[in-house]
Amino acid sequence: MTTTLDQEGEMMHRYHLRINGKDVDPAGGDWFDSYDPFRGQPWAQIPRGTADDVDAAVQAAHTAFTTGDWAELTPSARGKLLHDIGSHLASHSEELARTEVRDNGKLFAEMSAQTAYIPQWFYYYGGLTDKLEGTVIPIDKKGYFTFTRTSPVGVVGIITPWNSPLLLLTWKLAAALAAGCTVVIKPSEHTSASTLEFVALLEEAGLPAGVVNVVTGFGADVGSPLVDHPLVRKISFTGSDNTGRRINEQAAGQFKHVGLELGGKSPNIIFADADLDAAVNGAISGIFAATGQTCIAGSRLLVQRSVHDDVVQRVVELAQTARMGDPADPNTQVGPVTTRDQYEKVLSYIDIAAGEGAQLRLGGRPADRPECGDGWFVEPTIFTGVDNSSRLAQEEVFGPVLAVIPFDDEADAIAIANDSRYGLGAGVWTSDIGRAFRMSEAIQSGTVWVNTYRAVSYMVPFGGVKDSGIGRENGIGAVGEYLDTKSVWINTGAPTGNPFVIR
Ligand code: NAD
Repeated sequence: MTTTLDQEGEMMHRYHLRINGKDVDPAGGDWFDSYDPFRGQPWAQIPRGTADDVDAAVQAAHTAFTTGDWAELTPSARGKLLHDIGSHLASHSEELARTEVRDNGKLFAEMSAQTAYIPQWFYYYGGLTDKLEGTVIPIDKKGYFTFTRTSPVGVVGIITPWNSPLLLLTWKLAAALAAGCTVVIKPSEHTSASTLEFVALLEEAGLPAGVVNVVTGFGADVGSPLVDHPLVRKISFTGSDNTGRRINEQAAGQFKHVGLELGGKSPNIIFADADLDAAVNGAISGIFAATGQTCIAGSRLLVQRSVHDDVVQRVVELAQTARMGDPADPNTQVGPVTTRDQYEKVLSYIDIAAGEGAQLRLGGRPADRPECGDGWFVEPTIFTGVDNSSRLAQEEVFGPVLAVIPFDDEADAIAIANDSRYGLGAGVWTSDIGRAFRMSEAIQSGTVWVNTYRAVSYMVPFGGVKDSGIGRENGIGAVGEYLDTKSVWINTGAPTGNPFVIR
C-alpha cells in the first residue's frame, strides 16, 4: 500500500494486487475509488484488475500447487503453518477490523468480533490437515486390496461479497488451505482493502509466495475470467443468487466444482409461548444489528396472531431506541448502508412495500439525524400486515427493513416459512421443546436457530437449500469440498488373464 493525495489534497491509500507474494500494479494501469459509507467519500484506490492479472495470479497459484515449498509440505507441517497464521492474524485483528469498518460501514463492534474470531478457523482447520485419511474398502471381489485416498482439487477461485469480507473469505480459505489447495481471491469491488492487507499477513506468517493471490476489480473484468480459467478447478462463491446462477452456468462448461453461498429471506418465527422479551431482542438483532446487510437477516418476522400486536409494539419501541451514526464509534448500534446503489435499492423496496399495501410502522425514509452526516443511512423500518406473496416478503432487500407477517398455528407458520425460494436460516422462538424439534425438522433451510439467532461457529456446517446455495462451509465436512477422492484397486491375486478367452 502507498499513500497519495486526491484532488482536494486529502490522503488516499493506494493498494496493489497481490500476486506471487508481491505487490503488483494492475496490467491495465487503472485504479478505482473505494468509498467510506459513513462519509460518502472515497478513501482508497483499488487496482482495477483484468483477465491478464487473473492469468498471472492463476499461473502463480498453479506453480505453487504443483512445485515448491507448499506442495512439499507434509500435512502436519501444513497444519502447523495454519496455526501460525491464526496466531499472526490474532495479533492484527483490530487493524483489520478498522479497515473493514472504513470500507463497508458496518459496526466496529461487529467487525472486530469477526476479525477476533477468524483465527479459530485457522486453528481448527490446521488441526484437520493430518487427519484427512482414506479408507480401506472390504471389497466384494477376491484377490484385490482396495482403498481410497484424498487429494486437493487444485487451484481454487474464491469470490466474496462486501458485507463481511474477511469472515466469509476465511470460511473458504482455511478449509481450502487445509486440503492443500492454492487460491486466487477476487474480493468485492466495494471492500477489497481488508483482503489485500489480510493476504500480506498470511505471507508474513510464513505462507509461501503464490499460495494465496488477490486480484481486485469488477465482476466482469476479474470474476468472470477467474471462473473461466482452465487451471482453476473449483469456484467458491458467496454473493447474490443472480451472480451465483451465472457462475454456476459458466463453471458447468468446464465441469468445475462449485460452492455457492447465496441470499436469503429468513423467517424469524415467534410463537405465543415464547419468552417474548428474548424473542423481541432476537427479532431486532436478526434484522437491524448489521443494518440488515447479512445473508441470514431475519427479514420476515412471523408472529403468532394472539401475541402479534404486543410483539409489534415491543419491536417498534426497541427499534426506536437504536443509536445511529459513525460505525467506528463503539456506542453506535445501526450503521450506514455500504454502497450508494444498495442505499437506493433499500429505499426503492420501501416504496414497493408501501405500494403493496403493507402498513409502515417505523422508519421508511433516509435518516437525517445529525450524527449520520453525509452517510448512506436508512432509518430502521418496520412494515406490518405483509402478505407473504408480496415482493417485500419474497425478495432479498439486504437492508434494515423488517416485514411482519401474522400466523395462526404451527402448520400455518411452517407453510409461510417454506413459501420462499430461499432456505438459508430460520429462527424459532418457543418454550415448547417438542415444537422446537418439530419446527427444526419441518423448516426448509440450512440452519435453524431455536431461542437464539445468527449464531455461527467454525465447527457448525453453514449453507443453504433451494436458491440459497450449494455446499456447506464450516465444520469438518467443509474440507471435503476442496478434496477429490481417488479409489485405488490393487490386484493381490491371479495375474490378469487374456480377456478374449471364453471361460
Ligand atoms: P454480488 O453477487 O453482487 O457480488 C459478489 C461477488 O461476485 C463480488 O466480488 C462481485 O464482483 C462478483 N461478481 C459479480 N459479477 C460476477 C461475474 N459475472 N462473475 C464472477 N464474479 C462476479 O453480491 P454482493 O452484493 O457483493 O453481496 C450481497 C449478496 O451476498 C446478498 O445476496 C447476500 O445474501 C449474499 N451473501 C450470502 C452469504 C452466505 O453465506 N450465504 C453471506 C453474505 C452475503
